[in-house]
Amino acid sequence: MSSCRYRSVTCPNCQHQGQLEVWDTINADADPVLKKKLLDEFLFHWTCPNCKRTYFAPWETIYQDKTNKFVLSFHPFEEKGEPFNPADPSLRRFTCRSVTGFYRLKEKIYLFESGLSDVAIELMKYYILNGHIKIEGIDTSGRELYFSDQGKDESLGFYVVGQHRDVSTFRLPPSLYHQFLEMADSDGRFTIKEGFVSIDYHWVNALMRR
Ligand SMILES: [Zn+2]
Repeated sequence: MSSCRYRSVTCPNCQHQGQLEVWDTINADADPVLKKKLLDEFLFHWTCPNCKRTYFAPWETIYQDKTNKFVLSFHPFEEKGEPFNPADPSLRRFTCRSVTGFYRLKEKIYLFESGLSDVAIELMKYYILNGHIKIEGIDTSGRELYFSDQGKDESLGFYVVGQHRDVSTFRLPPSLYHQFLEMADSDGRFTIKEGFVSIDYHWVNALMRR
């Protein structure tokens, strides 16, 4: 089950004291409505009941998907405190990740629901961001790059966020993904230790320098 509590918040605009609904755990299988709200980007929004202004107010949560066997420990801004330790021993067989930032959370959900390896995807992203894989018509250097979806033809969708928050999209063939999956599986540097690890650009970048 998902678990909810309320936190007092003060509206920065009108100083009205309100209640923010905070879900400490989100169970994707048991609560599809909650999951949909998260993916549709409504879950972390709070509207002041007095002045009706809406704020983006994300909170830390544990996202569990028992069907696709993954657990995400989500930190909205930066990781802090003790790493999450699942009380349920059955979760230890799951893919466990620590994720910082709302769009990184969505990315992980889409990626694991598609049955893809995030290590292979992060390796692909590393090669794209460093210019080893050129994307026609899109400057990817120093940009934010996210996986978005896997198509029916198994092609992989990505989007790049530019300096002015402009978004460009592109697709890559599944054969390229399989090359990176092989690299992820055969190169010992990319073997993941147990526990909630952050698999992101910084993780790949640090290992590439070894
Ligand atoms: Zn207000």
